[in-house]
Amino acid sequence: SVDVTLNTSITTTVLNSVTYVTDNNAQLIGNNFNTFLKMLTTELTHQNPMSPMDTQEFTSQLVQFSEVEQLMNMSGNIRQSLQAQQFAAGALYVVATPIGNLADLSLRALKVLGSIDAVAAEDTRHTGALLDRLGLRAPLIACHEHNEREAAQQVIARLAAGERVAYVSDAGTPGISDPGARLVDAVRAAGLPAVPIPGASAAISALSVAGFDEPSFHFAGFLSPKQQARADAITLLAPLRATLVFYEAPHRIVDTVRALADGLGGERRLVIARELTKLHEQVHACALGAAVAWLEADANRQRGEFVLVVQGCAQTAPDDAELDRVLAPLGRELPLKQAVTLAVEICGAARNTVYARALALKQAGEAGA
Ligand code: SAM
Repeated sequence: SVDVTLNTSITTTVLNSVTYVTDNNAQLIGNNFNTFLKMLTTELTHQNPMSPMDTQEFTSQLVQFSEVEQLMNMSGNIRQSLQAQQFAAGALYVVATPIGNLADLSLRALKVLGSIDAVAAEDTRHTGALLDRLGLRAPLIACHEHNEREAAQQVIARLAAGERVAYVSDAGTPGISDPGARLVDAVRAAGLPAVPIPGASAAISALSVAGFDEPSFHFAGFLSPKQQARADAITLLAPLRATLVFYEAPHRIVDTVRALADGLGGERRLVIARELTKLHEQVHACALGAAVAWLEADANRQRGEFVLVVQGCAQTAPDDAELDRVLAPLGRELPLKQAVTLAVEICGAARNTVYARALALKQAGEAGA
């Protein structure tokens, strides 16, 4: 047992950490646990009572210590891989952060954020709070939509001096409907590298549970809040044979879904991905035409953050007469394969359908000759 006579929050942290260490790996009761106890004793005897600053520092050390222990408990391969990570100096690390669930921060992101000299952040308060939760500290540089180019010069000066700098947006992957692209562009133009540290992104998370078997997707981000501009954008997207992915805010979700149903037709499949990775996560699949009624049936369904995934334009079965009209002249002038390739492009039809039709035409021609 450990005799702890400090304030309650420290006591709780200490006891939680002790419990954690003992619960999670019996081996820690050996060497590592002794080290842990020694550290505790030193901290407790030398700094009693602690100032609020010391308390914070001590708690942060404990958090870091339990993280180190956690890492030590990991299977050998992950541990070795993490230990082997090298983060070159003079580089910008573009780090994805969780979109709601802190545990989605990658181990590599954790390691890089603990190794860098400064963090450029879309919102320094937000990122400061994230670093606090991770028990990390680093100087913060504000770098948002309105000062990205100027902030880039500060970052470049640090990189040129051999520092490592991370860029973090408020949530998810920087540069995806978030600042970051201008900073990366300026850093590269200065002859310095930008290194991705991948992780969560709401668009990719939603796509992964959409269940649409389509080979490509088009990320459209946020549609314009202006009615006409939004309708025009939807008209341009309508013929794409790719899954469409949109971001939307709660106060516009109903209007946007209605506009999508108007512009794309109510039959297309839609997946509404709400509050992904969070407590109230919800993924609902329905026809586009049924979505407004579903959203309006319960006010809670309109709360939180949204990704909309809409089925792409279906390949229409080509009209035989139209196919023949295109294939006949092409077939006269070109080898079958080339004629088919061009007809696929012109008619926008599936290759095997066009091929079958071209073959039938060729055989009919040969039989007639
Ligand atoms: N860079 C971020 C990414 O990689 O996903 C996106 C940032 S963008 C400013 C914020 C939008 O992403 C939200 O309005 C919402 O449409 C979507 N989003 C972010 N987190 C989400 C979540 N947990 N669930 C659903 N959508 C989310």
